[in-house]
Amino acid sequence: MHISEEKTMAHKPAIPKTSILFEPVRDAYGKRLALVFGNEFKNGKCPFYIKNQCYHCDIGAGEGVKFTPEMNKERLNFFRRHYRGVLGSMAHLVIYNSGSTLNKAEMSRQTLGDIIEHASSLKKCKIVSFDSREMYVTEDSLDYIIGKLRKNQQARVILGIESQNDRIRIKKLNKTMKRENIAKAFEAVGRYKGKIGMDINILFQPPELVGEDAIKESVETLKYGLNLGKRHKVPVDFNFHPYYPSKRSKKIYPNHPRADFQDSKKALLRMKAEIEGRRSDAKIFIGWQDERHDQQQRIRIKELEKEMENFDNFNAAQDVKFLN
Ligand code: SF4
Repeated sequence: MHISEEKTMAHKPAIPKTSILFEPVRDAYGKRLALVFGNEFKNGKCPFYIKNQCYHCDIGAGEGVKFTPEMNKERLNFFRRHYRGVLGSMAHLVIYNSGSTLNKAEMSRQTLGDIIEHASSLKKCKIVSFDSREMYVTEDSLDYIIGKLRKNQQARVILGIESQNDRIRIKKLNKTMKRENIAKAFEAVGRYKGKIGMDINILFQPPELVGEDAIKESVETLKYGLNLGKRHKVPVDFNFHPYYPSKRSKKIYPNHPRADFQDSKKALLRMKAEIEGRRSDAKIFIGWQDERHDQQQRIRIKELEKEMENFDNFNAAQDVKFLN
């Protein structure tokens, strides 16, 4: 962090650092913008990060300050000013808070309500995705969201399953997200009969897996998500995140390499083939934003210089020709 940024943070934490200020991108629905709000839990951190869970994740450390609903309101107003030329054309808003947006202790209903109210005022906005852990995907949360969005808007819950393999997710990543609780979240969403969807995060090449094993695992995780979606009648999309060493994961898995780009493409090709084979309309979004937590920024910049345009084209068109 630059000294000038530190000063800005000290005086005005509601103004986001450039590392969490996302650029509008494209996905299968049109223009997409991620908005990062502050976490309202202790010290502004995700409760699971505090409990030393999720070994791959530095994001849960938050922004170094506990937010209040007033500060998040100020941040929302900042976004309205900062993105004033583009917000009106966004089809898909993605709401983050370095944790779970559906947990009242991390994002008060006041903040969530302010955000949804704004999203529902954006005529072109068709979809609003909310990042959350599984236990907060409850009738209470979902009713609240649906009650505030326009009838022609769809809500989606972003669930970081990462890997369908319990040993990888629970043991290697220390993410104690149990299968039965994932199923419960799907069951809760399914009651809304398609008005709410799920966006499943897949961490490509998690610790322990490389090469063909990593490719196979990402396809298995996609199948797991598609099967759950089918069983509970929930529309499902996927966010594909290639692994990078974060501060935390570097300490715990110093020898595990960043995701191999050629393998990432092979995995995406097979995932797309699986989707098409099932005649599913599930979409894949390749997420490359790291909020500057990637500990190998030089390599990252080089990789993205080469692939960013292809990823963007793939995300918009869902066409595998951009992966060759
Ligand atoms: S992966 Fe999600 S739940 Fe886990 S520490 Fe990070 S933000 Fe929190």
